[in-house]
Amino acid sequence: MNKKLKCAIIGYGGMGAWHAAQIQKLKFLQVVGAYDIKPERNAFAESNGIHAYGSLKQLLADPEIELVVVATPNDVHKSLVIAALAAGKHVVCEKPVALNCKELEEMIAASKKYKRLFTVHQNRRWDSDFQTVEKILKANTLGPVFNIESRVHGSRGVPGDWRNKKRHGGGMVLDWGIHLLDQALMMTLPRKITSVFAQLTHVTNTDCDDGFRVTLQFNDGLNVYIETGTSNFINLPRWYILGENGSAIIHDWYCKGEIVKVSDWENRDAVPIQAGAGLTKTMAPRTDDTIKHYPLPPVKWADWIDFYKNVVAHIRNNAPIIVTHDQQRRLMKLVETVFASAKANKVIRTKL
Ligand code: NAD
Repeated sequence: MNKKLKCAIIGYGGMGAWHAAQIQKLKFLQVVGAYDIKPERNAFAESNGIHAYGSLKQLLADPEIELVVVATPNDVHKSLVIAALAAGKHVVCEKPVALNCKELEEMIAASKKYKRLFTVHQNRRWDSDFQTVEKILKANTLGPVFNIESRVHGSRGVPGDWRNKKRHGGGMVLDWGIHLLDQALMMTLPRKITSVFAQLTHVTNTDCDDGFRVTLQFNDGLNVYIETGTSNFINLPRWYILGENGSAIIHDWYCKGEIVKVSDWENRDAVPIQAGAGLTKTMAPRTDDTIKHYPLPPVKWADWIDFYKNVVAHIRNNAPIIVTHDQQRRLMKLVETVFASAKANKVIRTKL
């Protein structure tokens, strides 16, 4: 990794500029240029010291560039990725990789045809909150886990750029859903999904969804519930996990939360409490002698740079790539099943 691998960015918007800024800090990768269809974004790239190519053709014809990062709106990912692969470039594509499975297959076929890397920026696999969940599951901290809830809430509706337009691949399923569903698939391996039920919301937006609720049932009975909302003025916790011996809550991306585990199963004799207009024994709060509170397990601050380290290690030394085509195929099939379930308002049985 001594010589820096040279890359260029297609689409110098919010995320393209972010990639460029992050890459410029790396010892093994270097941004040599960018191209955007908007002249003002090219001027912005130049103002950040990044050469702006006059056209896509010029960028793709530059023999210095080995890797291209595609960070445009979702509907043009396919054509740009295939053009870059055909020009002999390796490609990192922003998520969602494509709008459907058919597009994805065409992109994978191009990657095979031109023998170039094609991978996807599923960066939220490096989120600390997600890695905390993975750690809890791997360590069996809560005993057999039967329910996981994963939520992301905001209150600003869908941003009024291309993100709220169906023809550009807008909507929250393709935006946040693609991260949360990818996380769900990764953390539950090697289980298979046996059913999917999804509902979309249209509170602020009619053209495409501004939120969704998805329930995934897995072959061992595990339920994973995933929700994104953009009209939520009070946020629910990011994660809520139930195991047979305890529960975990993670409130936010900064990993505030705790684990509560049973310490004395035998001590079951609850005293009924007055609750609302009635009495309950079942729901009587636990006493401190039967449960114990624990902090969340610490995770090393998730190093997102590992994503690009892996990309460069693959290009240079054929290291196994982290974000694979088969993972993307499964994810895209799940996205299509989510849309199909929401459209039919039905549970869809599957073997995903
Ligand atoms: P954006 O609107 O800020 O930027 C997109 C840029 O692409 C714009 O400047 C636009 O002019 C340019 N563009 C459009 N068509 C083009 C074309 N054919 N050729 C060259 N440039 C073109 O949007 P954004 O927020 O930067 O999102 C871009 C991509 O990044 C989307 O796929 C989005 O889903 C993804 N994204 C990923 C994350 C993440 O955490 N992984 C976060 C935000 C966005």
